[in-house]
Amino acid sequence: MKIGFIGLGNMGGPMAANLAKAGHEVTGFDMADVQIDGVTMAASAAEAAKGRDVVITMLPNGQILRRVADQVIPVMQKSAVLLDCSTVDVESARAVAKQAQEAGLSALDAPVSGGVGGATAGTLTFMVGGDDAGFATAKPLFDVMGQKAVHCGPSGNGQAAKICNNMILGATMIVTCEAFALADKLGLDRQAMFDVVSTSSGYSWSMNAYCPAPGIGPQSPADNDYKPGFAADLMLKDLRLSQQAAEAADADTPMGKAACDLYAQFVEDEDGKGRDFSAMLPRFEKRGRG
Ligand code: NAD
Repeated sequence: MKIGFIGLGNMGGPMAANLAKAGHEVTGFDMADVQIDGVTMAASAAEAAKGRDVVITMLPNGQILRRVADQVIPVMQKSAVLLDCSTVDVESARAVAKQAQEAGLSALDAPVSGGVGGATAGTLTFMVGGDDAGFATAKPLFDVMGQKAVHCGPSGNGQAAKICNNMILGATMIVTCEAFALADKLGLDRQAMFDVVSTSSGYSWSMNAYCPAPGIGPQSPADNDYKPGFAADLMLKDLRLSQQAAEAADADTPMGKAACDLYAQFVEDEDGKGRDFSAMLPRFEKRGRG
């Protein structure tokens, strides 16, 4: 396929490289001066998008996505697919999809889970919102860039799935960290705590697959001095998107709000910026009830 790829950063770069390696003709554009193996660079977003079967965007936020959409939608060929893989607010995803559909295009919002490691290895999970025809066209590309693509319903539903998942993740990581810190104070050995919880009803991905305590459970950023991994700043971005969506939909999400407030404090007022999101554990270790 002829693919335009806009936003070749930490995630977009390796995703575009994998598509080129699989034999697709990839034309890329980024604001920054980047070179990606197998990708021909264009001078603008519009040039990267013109005449392509699928245009993929992997950008920092919804505002930038809207700006890029204004540049590429008018030049895209009819029935091409605009495939946004960024994590953005549900409202921007739905607005861009509507604009694309009105121009005769298919639009998909397909945020990912799996991080830079998954982007490089081609093992991302895609959560996809949009029409069946667009999903069918993009499916071979999801198969190159990832291991799973779930079609979640109409436009915006991919972003909805992503922020609901990450709201659960943020809240479970916090409570897993505070439980370890409480266990320390109660004299409960961390290995014993892991052995019980990881096989009992308190188990979760945060405990079992990404244990925040160094030297316990599988290898995780805790074993690498909490270097990300998944940075606390990115978790804060996703929690803010979930709170923005909850407000717009009039949904009561008190645990999500508490997790959002705590990550904001950790990143903005304490030492969380640039650290993995599981570095909440050393944060709690240092604290009493205040
Ligand atoms: P990044 O900052 O490394 O990459 C974004 C790229 O977009 C940059 O290279 C930047 O120069 C480019 N860009 C910005 N404005 C542009 C414009 N107007 N035109 C063209 N290019 C422009 O970010 P990333 O880590 O690659 O993340 C991209 C998206 O993926 C974000 O929405 C993020 O939330 C999401 N995401 C990231 C991770 C992760 O672990 N990094 C995991 C899942 C999802």
